[in-house]
Amino acid sequence: MTDLQQRPQAVECGAGHDPADREVVQRLPGREVQLTTRLAPTEAQPRQGATVRRYLPTKGRRMVGAWCFLDHFGPDDVTTGEGMLVGPHPHTGLQTVTWLLDGEVLHIDSLGNRQTIVPGQLNLMTAGHGISHAEESPPERPPGLHGLQLWVALPQAARDHAPAFEHHEQVPLVKLPGLTARVLLGHLAGVASTATAHTPIVGAVVEVEPGAGRDASAWLPLKRVWEYAVLLVDGEVSLDDEELRPDELVYLGHGREGLEVRSTPGARVLLLGGLPFDEEITIWWNLVGRSHDEIVSARALWNAHAPRFGSVVGATGERITAPPMPTGRLRSRGRT
Ligand code: MN
Repeated sequence: MTDLQQRPQAVECGAGHDPADREVVQRLPGREVQLTTRLAPTEAQPRQGATVRRYLPTKGRRMVGAWCFLDHFGPDDVTTGEGMLVGPHPHTGLQTVTWLLDGEVLHIDSLGNRQTIVPGQLNLMTAGHGISHAEESPPERPPGLHGLQLWVALPQAARDHAPAFEHHEQVPLVKLPGLTARVLLGHLAGVASTATAHTPIVGAVVEVEPGAGRDASAWLPLKRVWEYAVLLVDGEVSLDDEELRPDELVYLGHGREGLEVRSTPGARVLLLGGLPFDEEITIWWNLVGRSHDEIVSARALWNAHAPRFGSVVGATGERITAPPMPTGRLRSRGRT
C-alpha cells in the first residue's frame, strides 16, 4: 500500500478506487440461474428455460467499471426444442451487449429493429428512458448456441436519453504480438470500438493467436486507473501466473500496467474494465434506476402496457409480466 503515497491522490483514488483493490486477484464464482421463458406452463407446454451462469452482480461485487451484469450461456445444442426464447420485456437505464461465440440469435425491439446476430457481430441496445425487446433462436439455425450477455449501467447524463439500437457487422481488432483482441465496447490498447459508450470502459474478447505454440505468452496493456476483470471463455489461460478456471470471474482491481497472458492456442478470455462507476444505482429485474420509487413506477408502466416501453411486434415468446416487488424498499447501492 505504501506506493499509493507516491502518486497523486486524484489519479489513484479520485475515481472512487478502493485502495484495497489495487492489483488484487479476487475469484468470484458464477452461479447457475434458470431463465424462465414461459410464465404460464401447461402440461403440453411445460416451463421452458435455459440455464446460464451469472457472474455479475455477485456477492461482494456488483460492478466492474459500468458493467453491472454478466451472463454466460451455453454451449448448448439447440437442434431440437425452442432454443433461446425470451419474450418481450423492458429495460431502463442500461445498455445490453450481446456477443455470440457460436450460433445465431434474433433480436426484435420496440423501435422496430429485427436483427439476427452471429459470431463476430455485436448487438448493442441502449435502453435509456425505456425500450422493450425479445430474443429468440430463429427457426432455421445452426446446432450450437454459446454466448455472453452483458449490461452496462448508463450514467446520470445519459440514462434518460431516447432508446437506440446498434448492430455492428464487425468490431475493431487489436493485434499485438501473440494475441488478437476484439473490442466490443470502449477502448483497448489505443483502439476504440465504434459502438456507442457513455463511460470510460472496455469490453473485449482476447484470443492468443493459434499457432503461437503451447505456453505462448503475450502482453496485454491496461490503464492503471481502470479496474478490470476477466472471464475464461474457452481453453486454458493464465494471467500473471494465475490460472483461470472456467467457472469464475476474476476481479483484478486497478493499478496494473498490463497482464501477461499465457495460454493454449486459441484460448479466449473476456476482458471487462473501466473507470469505477461512481453513482449509486438501483437494479431490480430488468430495470436500472436511482431509487425504489423509480423502479416501482417503471414496473407499473410496463405491466400497464404504457407507451414508455413501446411494443415488440412479431416475437415468438410471450410478453413477460414484471414480477411482484419484493417486500421492503429497494436501496441504491455502490459498486461493491
Ligand atoms: Mn433483455
